[in-house]
Amino acid sequence: MESRTKDVSSEGGKMRLGLTKIIGENQYNFSFDGADLWECIMESQKVSIYDIKECGLCHTSFLKLIAYETKEDKYKYVKVSCNKCKGSLTLGQAKSDNAYYYRRDKDTGNLDWQAFVEKEKTS
Ligand SMILES: [Zn+2]
Repeated sequence: MESRTKDVSSEGGKMRLGLTKIIGENQYNFSFDGADLWECIMESQKVSIYDIKECGLCHTSFLKLIAYETKEDKYKYVKVSCNKCKGSLTLGQAKSDNAYYYRRDKDTGNLDWQAFVEKEKTS
């Protein structure tokens, strides 16, 4: 196989980076395409969440990722949701680089797990 470092931006120079995140008992496989390693790593940083093994509230592992959109302002969110206690941990998105990260409590710095409330705050 012939490869020259100068040719990474050519059509044949695509790279793919695979990444696995564990959320509870679920495994999420992501793949990131780029012309070179730098682009792949940059792409992968948009999913800069780390593995979450258990719910921060009830400590079970019945977790999954869910995506939703708010009705009034069309904000798109992803959150870790617990099947047991229905608690959730929202992923925020940084405007600077579109990277997702776990929301944290401003005071404690701990992951901002929210207990389930019957009515979702929509206004
Ligand atoms: Zn829970």
